[in-house]
Amino acid sequence: MRRKLAAGNWKMNGTGQALSELADLARAHPDPACDILICPPATLLHRAVQISADNAINVGAQDCHAEASGAHTGDISAEMILDAGARHVILGHSERRQDHGESDAAVCAKAQAALNVGLTAIICLGETLAQRDASATLDIIAGQLSGSVPDAVTGENLVIAYEPIWAIGSGRIPEPAQIGEVHGFLRARLKERFGADISDAVRLLYGGSVKPENAAEIFAVPDVDGALVGGASLKAAEFSPIIAALE
Ligand code: PEP
Repeated sequence: MRRKLAAGNWKMNGTGQALSELADLARAHPDPACDILICPPATLLHRAVQISADNAINVGAQDCHAEASGAHTGDISAEMILDAGARHVILGHSERRQDHGESDAAVCAKAQAALNVGLTAIICLGETLAQRDASATLDIIAGQLSGSVPDAVTGENLVIAYEPIWAIGSGRIPEPAQIGEVHGFLRARLKERFGADISDAVRLLYGGSVKPENAAEIFAVPDVDGALVGGASLKAAEFSPIIAALE
């Protein structure tokens, strides 16, 4: 049975003051019936880990470099994330794919680097509105899945987040049936490539404008094992009811 996961992506938001939201969240969910993960900016990773040490909140990063070390100014390695005490890393978010030109192959190399040090990779994929309108969604998803996910995954060290680009930060979400179609497709493709044991264990998150008002409807969709939440994860008061809808 897959344990549900509520993951928050703070993106490039938050200085030290924002950590009070993490503490509030921990107080509101002392013994959660699902996994809770917060991915703050890299500058807050270590402090976030310290705050979460005595509670049930997990901490993750938002990206890592594919190399273990070297001349890559401004980047952080998977080992550095592990050293900061985090155990997860988001990879291939559409904002990184767009802003930094990350290809599927680049995401795959980063995911391999994450797996090499024992991190769980949360690999993001999703279509643009033009691709959906052209009925190309499943082709795009299939290509991103095969190109971005390394061979060495297990059911435990891989999470896939389906994030339609047009739904991110827009207030628009797909119909439940559209989410279900993609998640069912992802599960089937994972089974073809990795077998039933792995595909049954990998958690599939939906991401894109998840809010307290729509969370229960999204979580009722088959094969949705949780959410990757952007804007609504910044405030404990808004993220908390989303977590509650998953529990
Ligand atoms: C995201 O960027 O991962 C995301 C899901 O953002 P939002 O929830 O703000 O749409």
